[in-house]
Amino acid sequence: MLEHFFNPSSIAVVGASQNPGKIGYDILNNIIRYGFKGAVYPINPKAKEILGREAFPDLVSVPSQIDLAIVALPSPAVMEVIEQCGRKKVDSVVIITAGFKEIGPEGGRLEQALAARARELGLRVVGPNCLGIIDTASALNASFAAGMPLDGHIGFFSQSGAMCVAILDWALGENVGFSRFVSLGNKMDISETQIMLSMEHDKNTRVILGYLESIEGGPLFMKAARQVSKKKPIIIIKSGTTSAGAKAASSHTGALAGSEHAYNAAFKQSGIIRAESMQSLFGYAVAFANQSLPKGPSLAIITNSGGPGILAADACEKSSLHLSPIRKETADELRSFLPPTASVYNPVDIIGDAPAERYDRTLEVILRDHAIHAVLILLAPTAAQDPDAVARGIVRLAKDSDKPIMTAFMGQKKVKGARKILQDHAIPSYEYPEDAIAALDAMLCYRRAQEEPERQYQHFEADRGSVRQVFSSVIGQHRHDLIEKEAREVLKAYGFRLPENHIARTTKEAVQAASKIGYPVVMKIASPDVLHKSDMGGVRVKLENDSMVEDAFFDITANIQLRQPDARILGVMVQEMIPRGKEVILGITRDIQFGPMIMFGLGGIYVEVLKDVAFRIAPLSVEEADAMIREIRAFPLLRGVRGEAPADIKGIREALLRLSQLAMDFPEIIEGDINPLLVCPDGQGAVAVDARITIHE
Ligand code: ADP
Ligand code: MG
Repeated sequence: MLEHFFNPSSIAVVGASQNPGKIGYDILNNIIRYGFKGAVYPINPKAKEILGREAFPDLVSVPSQIDLAIVALPSPAVMEVIEQCGRKKVDSVVIITAGFKEIGPEGGRLEQALAARARELGLRVVGPNCLGIIDTASALNASFAAGMPLDGHIGFFSQSGAMCVAILDWALGENVGFSRFVSLGNKMDISETQIMLSMEHDKNTRVILGYLESIEGGPLFMKAARQVSKKKPIIIIKSGTTSAGAKAASSHTGALAGSEHAYNAAFKQSGIIRAESMQSLFGYAVAFANQSLPKGPSLAIITNSGGPGILAADACEKSSLHLSPIRKETADELRSFLPPTASVYNPVDIIGDAPAERYDRTLEVILRDHAIHAVLILLAPTAAQDPDAVARGIVRLAKDSDKPIMTAFMGQKKVKGARKILQDHAIPSYEYPEDAIAALDAMLCYRRAQEEPERQYQHFEADRGSVRQVFSSVIGQHRHDLIEKEAREVLKAYGFRLPENHIARTTKEAVQAASKIGYPVVMKIASPDVLHKSDMGGVRVKLENDSMVEDAFFDITANIQLRQPDARILGVMVQEMIPRGKEVILGITRDIQFGPMIMFGLGGIYVEVLKDVAFRIAPLSVEEADAMIREIRAFPLLRGVRGEAPADIKGIREALLRLSQLAMDFPEIIEGDINPLLVCPDGQGAVAVDARITIHE
């Protein structure tokens, strides 16, 4: 895939320059200097020869086949190069040139025209406005970066050229090797999706790393990531998430959603590991690239000082790892050579004066314990030991172990040499124990995700025709918000359980309705203009008899007339009262990148304050619906506290899945929520007692 970009047999540099310091010079120089084995053709009408290679006036004049063209000409000249690529049958192009979409509408139009022409000609394009590409296995450095990464197993793509340069420099400083480097630039054609797919097939790439500011084509990206992450970990840092999606929100879901949630959900659902900082991006990268995944959560910590051991234990507590109990045989063995003041339990504290040999023996014993899945070795540089010797010991023992071994040698000056020894031998070496734990945690989560069974999708019978009818009547009346009755109809068509409900225009009708339903009942204002009914005094619950119903009718209508005099009143709803229901909220929003998104949270009036909600991109699998429910902090309340009956979790799951299906079937729904869904005790289902839906044409 994209073979000509990463393993071409011939390259033309269009706009190759004779002047050092020019981009067209640097690129050609990098290609030659870092040992590219294929043919290289500088293209420059004013030169006969550049850097010892014969130059040609244009692409068409080159006598042989060209696999890859690198373009470093000013933006107005690029279109002609694309035309020539078409004529010369060059199929892969990297456009380094800036001055397109990133400078404004005019550049944007130029870029669109280029993209359209390139598509017609069947060209694949990286860029424009990028730094270029590097593939260490092909000794190809078609970029103007200063330096060439070492060979390694990390494939990196980045939307920011500056980030590429920074990472390259960091990698050289830390001895971290790379398989590929791709600067995506404006992503006119090739985006992160194609690069991920190409790295899936690249045998030198073990870990895929990305820096992104935006994502092109959310659903396709997710599909690709899902496929690729099954084989190789994808770690992404995503910057620039704003809450653009939360604009003009009329529902709870709208107010709580936002593109940050969408990205988080999309990453989670496609198996992407999200790094929150550059530091953790690097930290994860070296761990995944060099160590095997932990087979389980049991971690042993070896330390020569108490404080760092406790810090590490705390970090472990907050992660999915846990401190392994040390088996008796292991503890006995440790005790046989450790000083009496040492702690043979986890964290294993081998005391400040520990020489390298004590580290060695301890690690050896710990690695032999089958109950331990991963080891973290901490070192605080005391006067007594020789950190380099400790590092060498770890390197030696790590060779024969398939357990991940992480290190955090704290300090700077005294441990510098030791850290270099570790890095040179692919042992992840962190400055702080928390970083080591975070990386191990990410590895464990990745491994667990690998073991998850295939997702199950459930399909429900639904009456799409009635929904379509409701929507066209709403649009026909130039409305966007459905009234209560219409929202009920939509939910009914999708199999939601609704309370029995009648509209009463008089007290007499109200009493009749109540006796038909059976006491107790709930009464609510029926008005297209009242958004939050209880805020306006428009809801009465637990009405037990005729006279309470009559009073409620008067109260409710009077309240609304007083507080919202211009509201149209259709009457008062008399509704079946759902007893002992726990209130949850379910919602739909639409994200610009990823499409319909489903929300779940504990309902009631505090939902917007507590923001205890979970989001997933639709369509939801059964597992994803379950995960959402478990994800909220208030989940224990649903399971029941202090002798309470547990709520019907299956009922919530089913409601989430039905809502997901509705959102997928009707893209015109831009927002909606069921607030609350009243969840009855286990086995008794869940009932949608209030709903709001907003559509657009
Ligand atoms: P709004 O959200 O517009 O104020 P709701 O219809 O959600 O109006 O009603 C407000 C609250 O009243 C609900 O959150 C719920 O606690 C209670 N409630 C409403 N309908 C019922 C019902 N059918 N059974 C039991 N409680 C209900
Ligand atoms: Mg409500």
